[in-house]
Amino acid sequence: RGPANAPAEKRSVLPQVKNVIAVGAGKGGVGKSTIATNIAIGLARTGATVGLMDGDIYGPSMPTMLGIKGKTPQVKGNKIVPFFVHGIHAITIGSLVEEEKPLIWRGPMAHGAFKQLLTDNTEWPALDYLIVDLPPGTGDVPLTLCQLLPLTGAVVVATPQQVALDDAVRAVRMFQQLGAPILGLVENMSYFVGPDGTEHDIFGRGGTEKAAQRLGLNYLGALPMFTALRVNSDSGKPNANFEGEPKLADALMAIVKTL
Ligand code: ADP
Repeated sequence: RGPANAPAEKRSVLPQVKNVIAVGAGKGGVGKSTIATNIAIGLARTGATVGLMDGDIYGPSMPTMLGIKGKTPQVKGNKIVPFFVHGIHAITIGSLVEEEKPLIWRGPMAHGAFKQLLTDNTEWPALDYLIVDLPPGTGDVPLTLCQLLPLTGAVVVATPQQVALDDAVRAVRMFQQLGAPILGLVENMSYFVGPDGTEHDIFGRGGTEKAAQRLGLNYLGALPMFTALRVNSDSGKPNANFEGEPKLADALMAIVKTL
């Protein structure tokens, strides 16, 4: 897993996990958690065993998105057992903190909590893929992740406006500097689908694909903006988003196989 030249001590972290894939974004609100969930469920539908960790320590959205809000994970020995929901093994830092209480953490505490949840304190089963939803931006947590273990690579989510793409490119550069391969870019909110089915290119559909071409990166595909996706996510039914959705997980899997 990960770059062949990764040191042995990094390789021994989570040996039961074949591929660790980070999902990042230049900034918040672009649909990073939605895409991470979508990819995880998509991979599981192909028969793979998949874990999903909500590592967005400042704004964990998975309790709501996965329908596990208010539920406490089981503990085995001194380790947390991930929930098994929608066909995936999932854990979120949101399960461990009080609802509606802001997470005001200094950097070292934040990445300490992230590390504990990812490696020390979670009883991950043997997994083909562990998808890690990162906090937005280029802060401490992606650095911690890349230092901890060899990543298979990172997926960067963007929306197609130029200002959003500029931020996404910064996230790409960060992963590259940290030695994590970029598996591909995803365009979320690519266009808007109206109630009558008409498509509206609000933000500049296709901008992410062009940016990927310019940067020599893979482009995994796009997700339009539509009401049902938001409703399903808000009501904890992310698997309902799958019907008729583009095959981001398939595109990702094809790329991982070439590594
Ligand atoms: P991030 O993780 O980047 O902060 P989220 O995945 O939490 O973003 O998405 C933010 C909000 O936007 C959520 O309410 C989510 O349901 C909604 N959303 C994300 N992508 C779409 C989309 N393609 N269509 C409709 N709503 C979306």
